[in-house]
Amino acid sequence: MSYKVGIPQGLLFYDYYPLWKEFFNNLGAEVVLSNKTNKKILDQGVSNCVDEACLPVKVYHGHVCDLKDKVDYLFIPKIISVHKKEYICPKFLGLPEMIKNSIKGLPPIIDVEINLHKSNSNLIPTIIKTGKHFTINGFKITSAYSKAVDSYKKYLNLIGRGVVPIDAIKMYNESLKDIKKDKNKLNLLVLGHPYNIYDDHISMKLIDKLHKQNINVLTSEMINIDKINYHASKLPKRMFWSFGRKIVGSAFNVIEERKVDGIIYVSSFGCGLDSILIDLVERKARKEKLPFTLLTLDEHTGEAGVNTRLEAFVDMIRWRLDYENNISTHG
Ligand code: SF4
Repeated sequence: MSYKVGIPQGLLFYDYYPLWKEFFNNLGAEVVLSNKTNKKILDQGVSNCVDEACLPVKVYHGHVCDLKDKVDYLFIPKIISVHKKEYICPKFLGLPEMIKNSIKGLPPIIDVEINLHKSNSNLIPTIIKTGKHFTINGFKITSAYSKAVDSYKKYLNLIGRGVVPIDAIKMYNESLKDIKKDKNKLNLLVLGHPYNIYDDHISMKLIDKLHKQNINVLTSEMINIDKINYHASKLPKRMFWSFGRKIVGSAFNVIEERKVDGIIYVSSFGCGLDSILIDLVERKARKEKLPFTLLTLDEHTGEAGVNTRLEAFVDMIRWRLDYENNISTHG
């Protein structure tokens, strides 16, 4: 019998879905995704989650509600660290417990701990523990994982070539396509956590809207990791948040190499991590006279307001490029 494993389309879904999907498939399990975020999922998330949580955590609760009656297991790992000597947001650590306490009638949850803070080898017991839900053959489990990693590299390759993760998820097992960028278009860096910028409902199709205005979109996931690490290492204090290293390192890289004409930072209301990252990126952008704007989103944000902000920002950049030659009217 093939078990159904539910993966909610939220939080680290955009970073790791192809890896998780291949791993479970290689073990003979069927992966079932929640629907894309929509109003119903958002409303369910808001009513089943504590008020203090940030928007993506509320949305994640909604995805769990959407899946819970359709699967044999839910995959909600307890993620502490995904890189050596780094941590991610503490909300991820408590996620399985939050879900269990807030939502009734759940199927069994695969809530293995992922903690690479001390060593990458800590992943091996996690992989074995996860795989044991489907087979007792340890060799089968490790080989299912290493095949999944090979496939995952294709996905990362696509993103490195400029495909946004949500499209790369659709394409990652197809043959690689030749991806070209039009050098004459406006180029913008869209910064933020992947679950905010790639979720069409949360971001209100921001990337789509920019593409429709003939704008090339760059995101942190498309920047070379060595460059990200190099620029993040210039900070006076070591950035020990994985999200922070990626966001600040990629922003500093594109600002210093003048790769874009402006930066849009997408943040969730109440995100403590972002309050520090936004300040670091904004200061650097202002110092280098690069246009910067911040979109702060929560469940009450209206699309009309976001559209107006975007249009004004893009118009200002186009005007600047056409008439000001990047010299501020304020000197
Ligand atoms: S990093 Fe910010 S947006 Fe992401 S889960 Fe933590 S508080 Fe929420």
